[in-house]
Amino acid sequence: MRLSQGHLNLLELCPRKFQHTYLEQLGSPNSPDQQERLAAGSRFHSLMQQWEMGLPIEPFLQEDPQLRQWFHAFIAAAPQILQIHDPMFRESEHLRMLEFQGHMLTVVYDLLILTEQEAQILDWKTYPKPLRSDRLSQSWQSRLYPFVLAETSDFALEQISMTYWFFQAKGETESPQSLKLSYSAKQHEETRQGLIRSLNQFSQWLDRYETQGEFFPQIPETAEECSDCSFAIRCQRSSQALELPESFLSFAEIQEVPL
Ligand code: SF4
Repeated sequence: MRLSQGHLNLLELCPRKFQHTYLEQLGSPNSPDQQERLAAGSRFHSLMQQWEMGLPIEPFLQEDPQLRQWFHAFIAAAPQILQIHDPMFRESEHLRMLEFQGHMLTVVYDLLILTEQEAQILDWKTYPKPLRSDRLSQSWQSRLYPFVLAETSDFALEQISMTYWFFQAKGETESPQSLKLSYSAKQHEETRQGLIRSLNQFSQWLDRYETQGEFFPQIPETAEECSDCSFAIRCQRSSQALELPESFLSFAEIQEVPL
């Protein structure tokens, strides 16, 4: 199965939610608020891709004040973001895949810049920089993105980094903030072991689901996630339905929900 960081995050959050969302396509794992933010984030990513390709973006900026604010924040920080001269390779929305434990791990980098000395993965976030960055650095995106690049290129692990840019300012005068995560042999091995554990477990659940109709496990009844989960009734964790649209999200969308 093709698996992204969004799939892995949801699998870790609640395996049953993963089943309903991705295997049965019963609805979105996100609240309406989150979905609105995802849609706005998605528009910004498309705009950035257009810009990187040299296509006109003015009409989109004129129509959407939010997009305009994020894009101006990007332009203000661009000298710092794009400071690398003469890259060997630079591409937005760069897709890579890696076969691993019988599944296809899939990543999409917002911008990948490669030089002789380093490989930089850049990621755009349309929410403010989190006060606690540990959740973001422990997310599957932060672990999977450098892992796949390391496994599919000749770069040494220490040459790889991942930088998040947050374009939603907290105040009028605040500049965009960033968070740069370096990479190491230790992190690479930890991610490899984490993937082996998660994917082995996932393969067993998937096999039992497909061959015996056995459902993926639920999380404990006391878990916070159940209280605003769209599958709470189905899971007998609530008697009140949450009004969520029956739309299926592409796996790239989940990453914009603030961690
Ligand atoms: S209600 Fe709880 S157990 Fe059921 S899918 Fe949602 S988070 Fe998982």
